[in-house]
Amino acid sequence: MTRGRPMHEDRSDLIRRMKDRFRGTFVHRAYRSMGTLAERVRRGRQAVRGLLLSHPLSLFGWHPSYYYPRLLAIFLTTRCNLRCFICRREGFKGEDLDFGQLEKLSRAIRHARTIDLTGWGECLMYPRFSDVVRYIGALNPRPDILQITTNGTLLSSEVGELLRGHLGKMVISLNAATADTYDRDMKGGRFGKTIGNIRSFLSALDAGERGRVSLYFVAHTANYLEIPEYVRLAASLGLGQVTVGQYLVSTEEHRSFSLLEVKDAYNAVVDESELLARELGVGFSARRFFSEQARERGAWLCGDPVNACFIGVEGDVGPCCFAGSYRIGNVYEEGFESVWFGPAYRKLRRHRHLDACRRCTPFIPFDDPRAHLTEYLKERETSAGGADDPGGKP
Ligand code: SF4
Repeated sequence: MTRGRPMHEDRSDLIRRMKDRFRGTFVHRAYRSMGTLAERVRRGRQAVRGLLLSHPLSLFGWHPSYYYPRLLAIFLTTRCNLRCFICRREGFKGEDLDFGQLEKLSRAIRHARTIDLTGWGECLMYPRFSDVVRYIGALNPRPDILQITTNGTLLSSEVGELLRGHLGKMVISLNAATADTYDRDMKGGRFGKTIGNIRSFLSALDAGERGRVSLYFVAHTANYLEIPEYVRLAASLGLGQVTVGQYLVSTEEHRSFSLLEVKDAYNAVVDESELLARELGVGFSARRFFSEQARERGAWLCGDPVNACFIGVEGDVGPCCFAGSYRIGNVYEEGFESVWFGPAYRKLRRHRHLDACRRCTPFIPFDDPRAHLTEYLKERETSAGGADDPGGKP
């Protein structure tokens, strides 16, 4: 103790000095980037899973359930019944999953917490959609196992009946609040009919399940002024959540549709919509310009390499929806375990080495122009500029 000063003052001095030394260090920056307590717990769990999955336990090819992905995304089809502006798939035919291949995922299905059936198409177009729901339900009876994003056109009370007891989350991707915008941007559907189908579907769900259905609006310069009307639409449908995402530009000609062109005006519409949503009792979520900081080592915040596995119609595996053309292996040819526990996945978990991870849309600020491009356009720009090496193979 310093002569003449009470002991508690010395102690607080010491603590203050220790804090000053800690501040700014790598450990401090990593700790800060982990956010709230709940977030820290989640990150801690993620780190433990990452560690265990770097040397996965196995007994004659058998692995404990904990080692399997929590989110299993099984793509059923790449076909779609609409030709949406945001998707640009004019003339694209698409293909369906061979239903018999699902057997190869049986262990992963059994151990998953969530199974997403969205894929790169309209999953309700898959001819054996009801067989898939029953097959998954028989292997994994969790009442909230399924997660689906749909354009809503094929919803019905029958689909509602089929999904009862299995639905964890449904996102209806509807990028218009009026018939005119719908006809212009979601070609092939009819606004009134789609809204009617959504209502029939919702009527077949119980209140708890209806609470798991939300609307998703992809905003661009030609539709963002409709966001307040969209919130009213959600309220009129009795839906509790609206999420607004930004249009990701996929072709050079469409750069002018990016929200980057209308930053202030978009922010003002989002503010207005949020107030309105609060009044109407609808949850509302949207990113804004001028409000986000760059997150250091963003890719290390991402849980997808340890938690999620995205399986294309042909069995090609990607770690997430932001990795562009990078694929890890083929589960229908090599077997699920060979890919999930294999060297390429382990390398990704250890190094997060993909270019896509360094410029990943959820982890860079909304003001960063790259947060408004598809990964495919970023890849094209990179290879044209000859900068980063796409790499990715173990
Ligand atoms: S690209 Fe993004 S979402 Fe995908 S693994 Fe990397 S950081 Fe995660």
